[in-house]
Amino acid sequence: MPTPRTTVRRLPTRGVYDAETIAAILDEGFVCHVGFVADGQPFVIPTLHVRVGDALYLHGSQRSRMLGALRAGAPVCVTVTLMDGLVLARSAMHHSMNYRSVVVLGTAEEVKDRGEKLRVLDALVEHVARGRSRETRAPDEGELQATAVVRIPITEASAKVREGPPVDLEEDYALPFWAGVVPLRLEVSPPIADPRLRPETPLSDAVIELLRAGSR
Ligand SMILES: Cc1cc2nc3c(=O)[nH]c(=O)nc-3n(C[C@H](O)[C@H](O)[C@H](O)COP(=O)(O)OP(=O)(O)OC[C@H]3O[C@@H](n4cnc5c(N)ncnc54)[C@H](O)[C@@H]3O)c2cc1C
Repeated sequence: MPTPRTTVRRLPTRGVYDAETIAAILDEGFVCHVGFVADGQPFVIPTLHVRVGDALYLHGSQRSRMLGALRAGAPVCVTVTLMDGLVLARSAMHHSMNYRSVVVLGTAEEVKDRGEKLRVLDALVEHVARGRSRETRAPDEGELQATAVVRIPITEASAKVREGPPVDLEEDYALPFWAGVVPLRLEVSPPIADPRLRPETPLSDAVIELLRAGSR
């Protein structure tokens, strides 16, 4: 359910509040933007996220300013945006974008439990490339100690979705300009092996899966 803070006010019909839509957008996005205030200065930092159940998780260095502020209880705003297309209308003012985006408001809690931390770190790797956590060395104690993980419950969140053709003023449909949608998508390109890869190493199954999917 929307709260007063997460009710979409501009073009409210584009507001979506069901948990499935919000989860699907969070899951499809590689990158989120984390907004918070530290020492009176607002920051918006791009970072990797993963959703597990009804929580979002972020990770980073124990010394990160972003994670330091979040662990200290700073209110946080996380956004994820998926760009689906450029919407070209007959009039300049009715150009738009097709998109799916989510805004999550809340406060973070540090994940201290070792088991949960390991599961979240696995989930972050899986979010980037499904199956990859089984193809890598697990974090050692030093890496675990140096890494902070925070949980942001998805209790106050909204999605906003625009899809479909341009919407022009009725009188503008007679104009001689092309109008329509130019779809956009994030595509997977052929992988480039690390120059130090041992030559006998087979291609990763997770990469094969990414190539098979073709796009995100
Ligand atoms: C796609 C992507 C994924 C990332 N994933 C992670 C992740 O999972 N975990 C993680 O800890 N970090 C990640 N980063 C890096 C992240 O953006 C921050 O740089 C990092 O977390 C340090 O944050 P901080 O608050 O300690 O910044 P500080 O080092 O304190 O930042 C100092 C100043 O540097 C500038 N700055 C910091 N980061 C950026 C940036 N990304 N772009 C431009 N200017 C910047 C800002 O002006 C900031 O005020 C990712 C970045 C990108 C683009």
